[in-house]
Amino acid sequence: MTRVVIIGGGPGGYEAALVGSQLGGDVTIVDSDGLGGSAVLTDCVPSKTLIATAEVMTEVGESPELGLRYGEKVSVDLAAVNTRVLQLAESQSADITRSLEKDGVRIIRGQGRLQGTDQVLVTTAEGEETIPADVVLLATGAHPRVLPDAVPDGERILTWTQVYGLDELPEKLIVVGSGVTGAEFASAYDALGADVVLVSSRDRVLPGEDADAATVLEDVFTRRGMTVMSKSRAAGVRRDGDQVVVSLTDGSEVVGSHCLLAVGSIPNSEGLGLETAGVDTDDRGFITVDKVSRTSAKGVYAAGDCTGVLMLASVAAMQGRIAMWHALGDAVTPLNLAQVSSNVFTAPEIATVGATQAQVDAGEVRATSTILPLKGNPRAKMQDITDGFVKLFCLPVTGIVVGGVVVAPRASELIHPLSLAVQCKLTVDQLAQTFTVYPSLSGSLAEAARRLHLHSLQAVDDANPAKPSA
Ligand SMILES: Cc1cc2nc3c(=O)[nH]c(=O)nc-3n(C[C@H](O)[C@H](O)[C@H](O)COP(=O)(O)OP(=O)(O)OC[C@H]3O[C@@H](n4cnc5c(N)ncnc54)[C@H](O)[C@@H]3O)c2cc1C
Repeated sequence: MTRVVIIGGGPGGYEAALVGSQLGGDVTIVDSDGLGGSAVLTDCVPSKTLIATAEVMTEVGESPELGLRYGEKVSVDLAAVNTRVLQLAESQSADITRSLEKDGVRIIRGQGRLQGTDQVLVTTAEGEETIPADVVLLATGAHPRVLPDAVPDGERILTWTQVYGLDELPEKLIVVGSGVTGAEFASAYDALGADVVLVSSRDRVLPGEDADAATVLEDVFTRRGMTVMSKSRAAGVRRDGDQVVVSLTDGSEVVGSHCLLAVGSIPNSEGLGLETAGVDTDDRGFITVDKVSRTSAKGVYAAGDCTGVLMLASVAAMQGRIAMWHALGDAVTPLNLAQVSSNVFTAPEIATVGATQAQVDAGEVRATSTILPLKGNPRAKMQDITDGFVKLFCLPVTGIVVGGVVVAPRASELIHPLSLAVQCKLTVDQLAQTFTVYPSLSGSLAEAARRLHLHSLQAVDDANPAKPSA
């Protein structure tokens, strides 16, 4: 039996453990903080559970348009919300533990580090154990970055892992960082009723996302009363009694009751014994891997946030599975980031897959596109959805769908047909000819595809200038 040792029990590690044991490996998983990792215990699951409450509040806030009247103002009991969040995370972690136990995976609660390529030293509460390994998978994740002059105190200056300790809604929350994490928390706390200031060092929120989508979101944020401070870089955060003071690099200050730092992540790659095995990292400490999750050391693989490839739970899980398929001799398809779908869980949500507008604009992908606002969609009108759109990218000539963006409530559920189209190389005509329910938001996906039928005909002429146009 191949002896597999996995360090880290997040999605990169536990999904790999399930595949490793399915393929007949003798699998041990070592985790220091609880199975499920940060994804389940502090990051993904807790934030999306908090956002589930925020979504209801958004709907309640917008329901007067639909003719609903409430006697009293609906308010949020944040202590109850956070109790639910933490219980759900614990129970999800327990479910993962049970399924690994059922599959015969040995689970060790402790700290793991490499001793060369074929041994892992595990430090537990009881002492140390050296575990021999034919294959090692590093899936140790990442932790929140903090600024040198903004040290979290867990009370009012917080990282995203600490917000679930709050038992009252912050009166005025300053969110530093307008990437995905900052935008999601700003959106959620705004919906829950906090006064939110979003401090963004760039000229718009979500600098890494589709610019049209980010513009819609920023408009919605400001319309709902959030203060979005663009081109404002935080230099430090300090406590002043019951207040926090965020100082900006231009010398100005913003005062609030709480501050949430969302300024990126640092890989958990220190103290892992990487040098003993010859595992390379990049200059930011991320473990370098290829498309089948191999590191520079033979027999040592890495998956998830510690590799910095694309910091998503779904990608971590796929990298982990790929590592096991490769190491244990199963059929393996290398990781293809052009097929990854992802979502920003704001209100509205922003879901994307495949080619991006930035790639098209830079000439990296030669695609034609269309954008269809949702406000013309009959279901959207019935539901009073006024913001959002569907954007579709297809290749000229063939009309093959290579990417898409959906900005809508529950866009995370609407993106799947586009993911399928990208994965299976469907054409816009195939997408357009597929029945959609009437009335439905997904009708706009088919409508956008229909529009690209004409655009791609036009693109045929663009792509073949010699061909006479009709
Ligand atoms: C606020 C927030 C929300 C997010 N929401 C989403 C989302 O909605 N969807 C999505 O796809 N992604 C989301 N992400 C990203 C997602 O959480 C990560 O991509 C995912 O957690 C990566 O999984 P992982 O297995 O690499 O690491 P992790 O989940 O971080 O797990 C690593 C585990 O390894 C343990 N560990 C570290 N070092 C050692 C060691 N030496 N020995 C033993 N154990 C060790 C850690 O304690 C941890 O338990 C979110 C991230 C944040 C910050």
